[in-house]
Amino acid sequence: MADAGKILDDISHRRFNPLRNSWVLVSPHRTKRPWQGQHEAPSKSTLPEYDAGCYLCPGNARAAGDSNPKYQSTFVFVNDYSAVKEEQQDYTAEVGGDEKSSFLLQAEAVKGICFVICFNPKHNLTLADLPSPSIISIIQTWTTIYRSHLPPTNPHYLPAPNTPTPTSQYSYMQIFENKGVAMGCSNPHPHGQIWTTTTLPEEPSLELLSMSTYRKKHNSCLLCDYVSTETEKRERIVFENALWLAVVPWWAIWPFEILLLSKPCKACLPQLGESEVSGLAEAISQITKRYDNLFETSFPYSMGIHQAPLDATEEQKLASHLHLHFYPPLLRSATVRKFLVGYEMLAEPQRDITPEQAAVRLRALSGVRCYRQAL
Ligand SMILES: [Zn+2]
Ligand SMILES: [Zn+2]
Ligand SMILES: [Zn+2]
Repeated sequence: MADAGKILDDISHRRFNPLRNSWVLVSPHRTKRPWQGQHEAPSKSTLPEYDAGCYLCPGNARAAGDSNPKYQSTFVFVNDYSAVKEEQQDYTAEVGGDEKSSFLLQAEAVKGICFVICFNPKHNLTLADLPSPSIISIIQTWTTIYRSHLPPTNPHYLPAPNTPTPTSQYSYMQIFENKGVAMGCSNPHPHGQIWTTTTLPEEPSLELLSMSTYRKKHNSCLLCDYVSTETEKRERIVFENALWLAVVPWWAIWPFEILLLSKPCKACLPQLGESEVSGLAEAISQITKRYDNLFETSFPYSMGIHQAPLDATEEQKLASHLHLHFYPPLLRSATVRKFLVGYEMLAEPQRDITPEQAAVRLRALSGVRCYRQAL
């Protein structure tokens, strides 16, 4: 009998994403199509260490008039153009009226705060360029902000000295980084964002539901079981250390998508010990360096952390397993990207190169030095 895994290398098929309860169409036979793409020369970084026109560099003025301090490590401030605000008019849906139209035209108010986190003072150093201690500072800043927004009854709650005290109890905090013009990020200064809201957004809500349902059915954690399965199969691993595992997930949509999982079951950042934080810094460094080396360019991506909601119920805490998603758009070179269009908008996402092929390429790359340092 033919090996079932090998058959999937040749036939079109769908793969199930147990986190989102969704499917992706995989068409490996299409990777055999001839590729006419140009070979591009490595793009060398020409950014200065400091840019007088950058609103994120130390000492510079920002759009709304405030000036950045001459920060030495990470620096956090409330976004001058936040997507959600703490102060706004109250809104209550009208009661009565037509039941169908109130169902069809639903809305709820969302309050929140959007922070910007500058990863480091140097305008030209991305996560791939930073030494481990600098990445550890970023993880510690993420943790500090998360802790300061927990309910005061949570044992991990700790007010942060340099950030405003929240005026509401927020439900969820999304920590993320949008890197590169391809991802709509206009400022190259290495920075991330932290949005905290009174509502639980769609993606984490969907994942929590799947994880909670899985826990009830199997009496175990979906992502712990996934770590065991991937560790045993060893077909999609990009990088691992004692405490973290990076894989191109079985159900990846983006060509070089990565799921970074903590090996021990941790619900949120404050549960990470010192060695877990340094292991996470190493894993982030390894992933971003390999990404840069793949097409010899400063690799664009959206990356973010999924962890327990701030106001998690006991059930949600049990269901949560800290992980990071890396969603990079590039497909074949520094300029040829994948678009989610056509069939993907109207039917379901589709990919050509298999997650196993993508993992082989990323695994083989140097995670030791960045291509730009080699130039
Ligand atoms: Zn800058
Ligand atoms: Zn787990
Ligand atoms: Zn997730």
